[in-house]
Amino acid sequence: MKFAIPLWNTPAVPVAGTDMVFPVRRIYCVGRNYGEHAREMGFDPNKEPPFFFSKPADAIVPSGSTIAYPLATKNFHHEMELVVAIGKQGVHVKREGALEHVYGYAAGLDLTRRDLQFAARDKGRPWDPGKGFDQSAPISAIHRAADIGHPASGAIWLKVNGELKQKGDLKDMLWPVPDILVFLSGLFVLQPGDLIYTGTPAGVGPVKPGDQLHGQVEGVDEISINIAS
Ligand code: MN
Repeated sequence: MKFAIPLWNTPAVPVAGTDMVFPVRRIYCVGRNYGEHAREMGFDPNKEPPFFFSKPADAIVPSGSTIAYPLATKNFHHEMELVVAIGKQGVHVKREGALEHVYGYAAGLDLTRRDLQFAARDKGRPWDPGKGFDQSAPISAIHRAADIGHPASGAIWLKVNGELKQKGDLKDMLWPVPDILVFLSGLFVLQPGDLIYTGTPAGVGPVKPGDQLHGQVEGVDEISINIAS
């Protein structure tokens, strides 16, 4: 096959403890998956079904990177999240056995142009400009479930310039990972290479040029990102 334009690199994430990378096919994200965060966004978290949005696969950025302050925003927010990496195809996945579809886990940031997200939300328009922009999905190395198991509890936190901004616990997800896989696989055929950002705890807020972000998902990994000044 001869490509009409130069072919880009497959987006990929290092797999911890190996010399391999995990190729990224799609990125799905869960909205409002921690009660305190749903409330800070102005919603009642009482068990509406999970909802999803997407980012382009090439939005991933490795931990340790310095990223540009994005275009077209004055309210650029951090959202610290557990990321699930899919290793096995699945559709209409059953809750029992759902975790068999998981290859591993990472720590990630669902970076958000909050002003554009809210403008879209208020007008009933798509979230893509607020969520699916360049460099909006920083991610640590992926750790294989075969090595670390399936973390269902543990601290998740983010500091900006050393100051604690977000803190939660994975056990406080409104929809834990098996439920996410049930719902998502009823909407899309899950495929190896898919990533799922599983939602953020309370404490989201703005970052500015020169800021340093450092977060951790206990039992998974840490992530560090600098915003260019
Ligand atoms: Mn999020």
